[in-house]
Amino acid sequence: MESGGKSSKDKVVAVVGGGLVGALNACYFARRGFQVEVFESRDDIREAKIVRGRSINLALSHRGRQALSRVGMEEKIVSKGIPMHSRMIHSLNGKQSPIPYGKKGQYILSVDRANLNKELLTEAERYPNARMNFDHKLKDWSPDTGLMTFLRPDGSARALRADLIVGCDGAFSTVRKQFLRRSRFNFSQTYIPHGYLELTMPPVAGEFAMKPDYLHIWPRNTFMMIALPNLDKTFTCTLFMPFDEFEKITTGDDVIAFFQEYFPDAIPLIGVEALKTDYFRLPAQAMVSIKCSPYHINDKCVLMGDSAHAVVPFYGQGMNAGFEDCIVFDEIMDQCNEDFSAVLPEYTRVRVPDDHTIADLAMYNYVEMRAHVNSKWFLFRKKVDDILHFLLPKTIVPLYTMVTFTRIRYHEALQRWHWQNKVINQGLLVCATGAVLGGSYLIAKHPPKIPSIPIEKVWDRLLSLKV
Ligand code: FAD
Repeated sequence: MESGGKSSKDKVVAVVGGGLVGALNACYFARRGFQVEVFESRDDIREAKIVRGRSINLALSHRGRQALSRVGMEEKIVSKGIPMHSRMIHSLNGKQSPIPYGKKGQYILSVDRANLNKELLTEAERYPNARMNFDHKLKDWSPDTGLMTFLRPDGSARALRADLIVGCDGAFSTVRKQFLRRSRFNFSQTYIPHGYLELTMPPVAGEFAMKPDYLHIWPRNTFMMIALPNLDKTFTCTLFMPFDEFEKITTGDDVIAFFQEYFPDAIPLIGVEALKTDYFRLPAQAMVSIKCSPYHINDKCVLMGDSAHAVVPFYGQGMNAGFEDCIVFDEIMDQCNEDFSAVLPEYTRVRVPDDHTIADLAMYNYVEMRAHVNSKWFLFRKKVDDILHFLLPKTIVPLYTMVTFTRIRYHEALQRWHWQNKVINQGLLVCATGAVLGGSYLIAKHPPKIPSIPIEKVWDRLLSLKV
């Protein structure tokens, strides 16, 4: 395709960051025929002995899968993922209760972050017009000329010019620094008071220590632990907790006492000795939520993935949203005939409201995961939503389903959820009023014949209804 005098095959697209979104984006641009140069500050992770990342595994869902499918990678990645059909809630007394994610057949996948990154880099490299430049740390770049300067491990610098710079260099993006120097660039960053720490739950007699097709959750109101299965039959447990609480635990015995109080069923599965040592292996990591706008500078640069919108991990959507960025950009490239001066502002216009919404929803879901799932009202409302979704599948769709199993735009899903909540709550109010009035009438008419039903029984009955 032609635009601005140069054809795609003459234009250089520099993808800064060879993480999950950068590697996938390289495939998208290479597929269109651009000269793609990927610059990654780290060494090639396919050759590294230890891969340092932000979580060992992640939940891949519909948006991410769609993005992978467009570059022919869906099957390869899905075949190495473990389906998780439900959350498995672990109560303090050891009781486990599943809460399905969606309808029968709907599930999210636990995938290995390092393997996903490696596969995407290998796929990008298959294109003859894509080149990987590892050990290239972006230092600075010019919005006027597109000239970038990279630092090499030996201290030398390398300069390179590109027609388009795609910033995929994560939450602490160097590409974004140029945006911050410009007027009318909105930026906000919020650290939540909670950190996270990962622990490994080993297999028992060669098998998973817990049921593998679930995302296990120990919700404890102000904090929680989750566990996702891995292909080697381990679980990666992630403890999310306020930093103040992490700081109170200073010895191995403190760890055991803490687990004894809040996660007793996990102690034998992780192992006392492993808990005592692994807990202190790395300090708890911080979590940040970043919003900014616009996502582009002229026709020169665009931000995607965490560099544009780092979100807290509680909706399992950070990577999925970043992957969806690639599809949205690709769709706009078609609409605007690959003319960067039209594509980039349109991308900002379309994508900012959606990415800002998922950042907010991820914050909201943290409270849902660690606290709401313990509430009977939440479980009752979820049942009502599920029943209505079953009866009116096109009209009432649970928010989690819209976010996780569809490509409905995030901001439209949120608007729709607000509307649905209004309708359902009003409906419930009408039903409750009707029941009270009807009940009062019956009691007045036939006082001795009405048996009294304990309210807990009504709850238990409602919660045990199968859709
Ligand atoms: P990154 O993965 O951060 O990659 C950025 C890359 O840029 C890195 O390779 C880095 O080395 C490179 N880089 C940085 N600076 C430079 C520079 N100056 N020059 C060159 N290269 C540079 N998302 C989900 O969808 N599902 C989940 O279940 C999920 N779970 C998560 C759990 C945790 C604990 C956390 C913290 C996040 C989770 N996420 C999840 C979010 C997900 O990890 C991110 O959204 C995703 O990694 C973003 O990919 P990215 O490529 O934009 O950024």
